[in-house]
Amino acid sequence: MLPLDELYQEVILEHYKNPHNRGRIDNPDIHGHGVNPLCGDEVDVTLSLDGKKIKSFMVDGKGCAISQASMSMMSEALAGKDLDLAKSMAESFKNAMLGSGDLRLEGYEDVEALEGVKKFPVRIKCAILPWNTFLEGLSEVERKR
Ligand code: ZN
Repeated sequence: MLPLDELYQEVILEHYKNPHNRGRIDNPDIHGHGVNPLCGDEVDVTLSLDGKKIKSFMVDGKGCAISQASMSMMSEALAGKDLDLAKSMAESFKNAMLGSGDLRLEGYEDVEALEGVKKFPVRIKCAILPWNTFLEGLSEVERKR
């Protein structure tokens, strides 16, 4: 048996049950859609910008508690941030999940609850999916510029 208590900590369950910034923006400046077929997770990310600042960061999706909680956390952690900062935060989250460095985001402690997920390689994909989806949406916009 997996130590499920450790995997599904309180903070993760709270985000899963009461996701933050849930919804979709019409005509978003950035849009990303990501799926994790291994687990059946699906994530939709829509952002509106004010210059280089993220004005609104909305997320929608379905899937396991890890992917949906991570999605909710991301929307909270990155909303209102400058795009460049949001990008580097998403990249450092990914790197930490994949094993290099501590799982820590300046000014946002909730992500540390995902630390336990690192022990379950299959679930790491779930945790990373929303952040990848954001980064892919962002790079699509950057390519068009
Ligand atoms: Zn999943």
